[in-house]
Amino acid sequence: MSSRDYYEILGVGRSASDEEIKKAYRKLAIKYHPDKNPDDKEAEEKFKEISAAFEILKDPDKRRKYDQFGHDAFRGGGGASGGVDPFDLFRDVFGGGGGGGAGFGSIFDDFFGGSPSQSDGARGSDLRVSVTITLEQASQGIEKEIKYQHHDECQSCSGSGAASGSGKVMCSTCGGIGQVASNQGFISIRRTCPTCKGTGVTIEKPCKECRGEGRKKVQGTVKVNIPKGVSDGNRLCSRGRGDAGTQGGPRGDLYVDVNVRNHKFFERDEDDLFHEIMIPFTLATLGGTVQAPTLDGKVSLKIPSGTPCNKTFRIKNKGMPNLRMPSRNGDLYVRVVIDVPDKLSKEQRDALVHFSKASGDKNISPDEGFMDKAKRFFDGEN
Ligand SMILES: [Zn+2]
Ligand SMILES: [Zn+2]
Repeated sequence: MSSRDYYEILGVGRSASDEEIKKAYRKLAIKYHPDKNPDDKEAEEKFKEISAAFEILKDPDKRRKYDQFGHDAFRGGGGASGGVDPFDLFRDVFGGGGGGGAGFGSIFDDFFGGSPSQSDGARGSDLRVSVTITLEQASQGIEKEIKYQHHDECQSCSGSGAASGSGKVMCSTCGGIGQVASNQGFISIRRTCPTCKGTGVTIEKPCKECRGEGRKKVQGTVKVNIPKGVSDGNRLCSRGRGDAGTQGGPRGDLYVDVNVRNHKFFERDEDDLFHEIMIPFTLATLGGTVQAPTLDGKVSLKIPSGTPCNKTFRIKNKGMPNLRMPSRNGDLYVRVVIDVPDKLSKEQRDALVHFSKASGDKNISPDEGFMDKAKRFFDGEN
């Protein structure tokens, strides 16, 4: 085992921070790992040397002893490396899978995100759009095509952000740690590495199309199935239709806020609909049938004789479908308002006077009043 200075081996100064030492180790350990340098005795020796140096300098206690006594501090106790397996150390630092005997290859793959499922990219943002539909559409459900701006995976690099033939390399700013530290007096402030955004890797040669982002802003469309029974203010979620992630990261979601336009006839209270119709006072008195509008055409509504003003009739199952149980419908409530005519022909008036006499109503004025005459004069009749 060499007795070269540990700081020299790692290429750091004596006052290097823990992070700087770790960064230096990571850089060198990847460079000289035997799996990456097959049949290269020199690289293997270097790898062992780096490991031995890091093993001591990463431990504050051992580092202090080393600073004081140099290599002598560890002599006689089984060598400077203390019997530490350089491969175990490597696995500890790089967090390779627990599988026994995992070589550099598999750790390298894990670390550098060889497969898309282990991407280093950040998740795309969730997006929000709103869509306005009519009450009829809310009642039947509708597939709406929504145009929206979003980031989509770059086609030329399949979202990886790397130009074809190039891969990812350890970030040189942070040495693969994902954080950088700056010293201000005694305080060391760590922040996310601005170069790799904390992923520890950067792209060797960025894709020209997307400048390495792995995604591009596009004007896209999405088809959203708006279920029957939806209400104003409901929010739907279209999973994975938000922004594409950077460098192959997972996609965000798309939220669709549903606005249901007010209807000219119907008012809605949850699944029930309300509607008001005017009927002539004669129909209310004598009884008969009217055509009442519903969301899907008119239905006949029987008005019994002697129907008072504001009486409400319930038409079953003509309300809105229930969002959770679409086979179940609310009801339609029809309130009748009695229409009192403000103008009568002579014939109508005579008939009503006749009616009031037959009813023994003594309060009625048998002739046209002054106001009625005046009104007819101004209306141009007679
Ligand atoms: Zn690209
Ligand atoms: Zn970095």
